Amino acid sequence: MKAVQFRAHGRGPELVTLPDPVPGPGQVLLKVTAAGICHSDLSLMAAEPGTLSFAPPVTLGHEAAGVVEELGPGAAGVAVGDAVAVYGPWGCGVCRACAAGRENYCPHAAALGIRPPGLGSPGALAEYLIVDRPRHLAPLDGLDPVQAVPLTDAGLTPYHAVAESRHRLPPGSTAVVIGVGGLGHLAVQILRALTPARVIALDVTEERLSLARSSGAHEALLSDDAAPAALSGLTGGMGAAAVYDFVASPATTALAAGAVAADGHLAVLGIGRGSVPVAFGSLRPGVTVTVPYWGTRQDLLDVLALARAGRLSTRTETFSLDQAPEAYRRLSEGGIVGRAVVVP
Ligand code: NAD
Ligand code: ZN
Ligand code: ZN
Repeated sequence: MKAVQFRAHGRGPELVTLPDPVPGPGQVLLKVTAAGICHSDLSLMAAEPGTLSFAPPVTLGHEAAGVVEELGPGAAGVAVGDAVAVYGPWGCGVCRACAAGRENYCPHAAALGIRPPGLGSPGALAEYLIVDRPRHLAPLDGLDPVQAVPLTDAGLTPYHAVAESRHRLPPGSTAVVIGVGGLGHLAVQILRALTPARVIALDVTEERLSLARSSGAHEALLSDDAAPAALSGLTGGMGAAAVYDFVASPATTALAAGAVAADGHLAVLGIGRGSVPVAFGSLRPGVTVTVPYWGTRQDLLDVLALARAGRLSTRTETFSLDQAPEAYRRLSEGGIVGRAVVVP
C-alpha cells in the first residue's frame, strides 16, 4: 500500500510503498477514508534526534477515519463495513485513568510501548490502518469522513480543554482563543456551542480572522503588539475568564498570561517554545494554568455528537496521498486555512 512516512530526522515526509498490514489478535484493519494533517507532525519531524519517545521511520497521521475491512482473531464489537473515527490517545485500557475514559492521561501507555497511531504506531496517512483495540473506534453514524476526521484531534483537543473549564465561563464572561488554525477554528465553535461566553479570537492574518468570525467569534483581532491593550480594553481591564493558546510561542504565552483574569483559566495547547511563569505576582491571583493533551474517549463521542447536531463545521482542504508532502509544506508556510485532509 501507499503510505506517507517520517523516515529520518531533518527530512520531510516521504511517499513510500509498504506491505498491506494484516490485523493481529484483537486488532481491527481499517481502509482509511480520510486522515487529517496536524501541525504537531511538523514539530515531530523538526525534533532533535533522541528527543522523541520513538524513532523514525513511522507512518504519519494521527487523525483517522475509515471503514472496517477485516477483524483480527478474537476482535469483536464492530463489523466489516462499519464507518468509524479513531480515538488516537491509546492507553493501557485497565488503569484508573483508562477506566474513566481518560486514556489520554494513561500513566502506563509509554512504558508498555503503547503509542498513538501516527505518533509511534503506524498512522493513517496510508491506504490501511491497524487499530489495536475495537474500543478505539467511534461510529461515524452518518458523518462525512472528510468533515469528521479533524474532530478526532483538531476538534477533540479543544473540546476537552473547553469541557474541563466551562464552569469558568458563565454568562457575561469572555473566552480568548489564540491561533485560529485547525484546532482554533473548532475551538471557537465549541465555545459557542458549550458556553454563553463572548469569544475573542486572535491570529496573524485577515483570512484567519475572517475564519474566526465565520466560526462564531464575537471579536477577531490581529495578534500583534497592540493585542494586549485591545484585550484589556475589551474586558474592561479585568482580563478574560478563560484563555486557550493554540500557538504557545513566547509572544502568545506572554499575551495569554497577561490576558487571563483573576480566578481564571489558562490552557496552553500549542507546542511552540513559549512558557507561562507561574509564581505569586506573575499572574493575576487564583489563575489555573493547564497543559491539556488531546481528549478523553467520552469527549470524542461528545464532539462527534455535536457535529451530528449541526453545531460544528470543519473548514477542510483535501489532498491525495501523493500530495500529502505538499500539504505539509503548505502547512509549514502558513498556507492552509482550516485543516488539510488526505483522502487516500
Ligand atoms: P495550525 O497551523 O493549523 O494553526 C496554527 C494557527 O496559529 C494558524 O492559524 C497561525 O496563523 C496562528 N498563529 C501563528 N502565530 C500566531 C501568533 N503569534 N498569534 C496568533 N496566532 C498565531 O496548527 P494546528 O494543527 O491547529 O495546531 C495548533 C497547535 O496545537 C500546534 O502547536 C500543535 O502542535 C498543537 N496541538 C496540541 C495538541 C494537544 O494535545 N495539546 C493537539 C493537537 C495539536
Ligand atoms: Zn495533532
Ligand atoms: Zn491506562
